[in-house]
Amino acid sequence: MSGNCTHLYQARVLQTDKTYCEDCMKRGDSWVHLRLCLTCGYVGCCDSSPNRHASGHYLATGHPLVRSIEPGENWIWCYRDEVMAGVVQA
Ligand SMILES: [Zn+2]
Ligand SMILES: [Zn+2]
Ligand SMILES: [Zn+2]
Repeated sequence: MSGNCTHLYQARVLQTDKTYCEDCMKRGDSWVHLRLCLTCGYVGCCDSSPNRHASGHYLATGHPLVRSIEPGENWIWCYRDEVMAGVVQA
């Protein structure tokens, strides 16, 4: 599973201990799934969540890559190319 993404070399952060969306926590909101920014380690909520903080982080920073940090999921999504860019190797 890999698309035409040229940003994978920018990935610096592949793992995190965070288990919550920081921006939702501040507001007292809830989220559905969590995404990790592979550029800076920001954890935000997915597009199925009311606040879509992961997308918002991309729009604000231009950091293109996120991975799912849901249990058992290791896929990488590129916002800029709108493709599954690959998977995180364990
Ligand atoms: Zn890309
Ligand atoms: Zn959030
Ligand atoms: Zn980031």
